[in-house]
Amino acid sequence: MKIDLHVHTSPRSKCSNINPEELIEEAVKIGLDGFCLTEHQVIWPVEEVAALAADSGVRIFRGNEITTAQGDVLVFGLEKDIQGVVPIQMLKKEVEAAGAFSILAHPFRGFKVFGMTDLSMSVEQAAKKKALSFVDAVEVRNGKVSAQDNEMAEKVADHLGLPGTGGSDAHNTDELGQWITIFEREIADEADLVVELRSGRFSPGSLR
Ligand SMILES: [Zn+2]
Ligand SMILES: [Zn+2]
Repeated sequence: MKIDLHVHTSPRSKCSNINPEELIEEAVKIGLDGFCLTEHQVIWPVEEVAALAADSGVRIFRGNEITTAQGDVLVFGLEKDIQGVVPIQMLKKEVEAAGAFSILAHPFRGFKVFGMTDLSMSVEQAAKKKALSFVDAVEVRNGKVSAQDNEMAEKVADHLGLPGTGGSDAHNTDELGQWITIFEREIADEADLVVELRSGRFSPGSLR
């Protein structure tokens, strides 16, 4: 099952130009089975998503992209809006208490550009990034970062034995599906999504 796990829509994400109805049309067009709405710090009301998904031919799931002091974290199965910038340790506690699942988004975004580390940073050094020990998985394919940033994320995830997901981080409709997560099993609802994420039965892919 092909799912884009990282999508922003307007107006809930101010940075996005995507109208949810257009997103559905695009998903059908490119052969995406579903996508996950991961706005910043806000989860969609369940009834609204159900109405949007009805008869659309695609599955729509809800997630949340939480800003922590150690980086952005995608969470699934957490029915709670977390405001402000929180320490990642605190988010981990919330995720565990809710039986939810967390993915460190674009972990090495701009790591070369901003000189966070020098060009010779090894995978072993990169794997020491603190946030990595507080999440369940790593986004190894993100549509908003460079190929090098994604490559480092993938190597680090492999090194640590953490599963790797893909998501477009779409802010425009034509970005949907640039990176996706291909699940081996059928996912009917959000509870299934958490189960399948936890199982590790998935790999990153692309529809663009
Ligand atoms: Zn982000
Ligand atoms: Zn995002």
